[in-house]
Amino acid sequence: MPSIFSKIIAREIPAHIVFEDDHTIAFLDINPVNPGHTLVVPKQESKNALETNLEDLNRAMHVVQTLAPIIVKAVAADGCTITTNVGEASGQTVFHTHIHIIPRFTGDGHISWKHESVSQEQLQTMAEKIKAQL
Ligand code: 5GP
Repeated sequence: MPSIFSKIIAREIPAHIVFEDDHTIAFLDINPVNPGHTLVVPKQESKNALETNLEDLNRAMHVVQTLAPIIVKAVAADGCTITTNVGEASGQTVFHTHIHIIPRFTGDGHISWKHESVSQEQLQTMAEKIKAQL
């Protein structure tokens, strides 16, 4: 069954499209975190960014790099968050790869990460654990 984003690509459901070429589409998020919140989507369906073929991901990132400053300027933002969720645990709700461009405004309060203090030894152990999987 086609994803909701494939239905937007096929014009089966409406969206406010801001960019489109043969491989990538970008449209406004229906429930924006901030004004101008845009989703950049490879047209070829894949579940998430880790499962997207590298060419499509590169093309999408190229669009992100071009569009983000334009969107920031259009909404007079102070910066932006560029993010993609992988899996339900991360908050992914649409399982068709997409990259969020979220304009950010100083003091907008959308700071969601809680950083923990850890020791150098804990960092060392973690780095070794990851490298052991390479
Ligand atoms: P995720 O949570 O998967 O990282 O992001 C999915 C995003 O898609 C959400 O921010 C949500 O608001 C947006 N979204 C879900 N359904 C639609 C839709 O039908 N149209 C548009 N434009 N955005 C959608």
